[in-house]
Amino acid sequence: MTEHNSAHDSAHDPAAVVTETDSQVPSLRLGISACVLGQEVRFDGGHKLDKYIRDTLGSFVEFVPVCPEVEVGLGMPRETLRLKRRAEDARPALVAPKSQSDHSEAMLRYARDKSRALSAMDLCGFIVKKNSPSCGMERVKVYPETGTGSPSRDGVGAFTRELMAALPLLPIEEDGRLRDPVLRENFIERVFAYHRLRSFFAQPWRASDLMRFHAREKLLLMAHSDYRPLGKLVAESHSIPKAQLQEAYSTLFLQGLAKQSNVGKHSNVLQHIAGYFRDRLDVHSRREVHEQIAGYQARLLPLVAPLTLMRHHIRSLELNYLQEQSYLWPHPPQLMLRNHA
Ligand code: SF4
Repeated sequence: MTEHNSAHDSAHDPAAVVTETDSQVPSLRLGISACVLGQEVRFDGGHKLDKYIRDTLGSFVEFVPVCPEVEVGLGMPRETLRLKRRAEDARPALVAPKSQSDHSEAMLRYARDKSRALSAMDLCGFIVKKNSPSCGMERVKVYPETGTGSPSRDGVGAFTRELMAALPLLPIEEDGRLRDPVLRENFIERVFAYHRLRSFFAQPWRASDLMRFHAREKLLLMAHSDYRPLGKLVAESHSIPKAQLQEAYSTLFLQGLAKQSNVGKHSNVLQHIAGYFRDRLDVHSRREVHEQIAGYQARLLPLVAPLTLMRHHIRSLELNYLQEQSYLWPHPPQLMLRNHA
């Protein structure tokens, strides 16, 4: 891992999907709370290193580390901070309870400036530190205004709140939630999809190119949500001004992928793929495919099991439409994200 590990820069088409023979992808930037990368920036001079994120995911992305509390000038070591409810403002205050100092305005200014700067860096996602009054994404403790009583668990960190407001479509996830294999796969899938989308629109394109891009993403979208509104938009793309089309497509694409996938949705996609084998495989091979899908539906097999068999048939039958689907290779296989039942 490096924080600017561009070892995966490549001359090939940046919008292309990852394939089994070409698992390297062009440089992809992820923002991250610096302590999760192992930087000693916490209030006590410690860190909260996540080795999977730094070492495994870090082999495929370029991290942009951010520590809001250090960058706002609080130094190290520093007093611990907390969120405190305030009646006159929906945004809780960011305070240091021991000294009674209030850092809300400084953090608000910093977070807005930093979010603007980050939006110019082509980030494809952001990993934030859970529970932090600055970086947490959800369920952060908010203490009562009076200073007594138990905290509620409904806050958002003061930096992350502004980041989410400035970049509402950016995939953001907490380090803690990324230990759940399903949430991890969903997040990383969105990050790589966002990267393909950005790469596509970064180059000259025509409506017909967008149709081809959309065709490649169709099964992946199907695994998350109803892809028909996007299909309708693409079908009408020749009559929509390009800037408007890009914005509308990007919004629907990212909103669609933000809906969590699950076993039922993946099973639908697998059945859809199996439909292409109907007149092309013998009875024995078709039965084997259906047994693998049933095993996955019953949570006896990981998703990678039926997919591996299907990829084999897709390749040997030369089913080009399926071979090009990002669903088959949505992220580098070395991340082993589809190995959970
Ligand atoms: S949680 Fe955020 S503010 Fe706190 S040390 Fe980590 S990066 Fe800095």
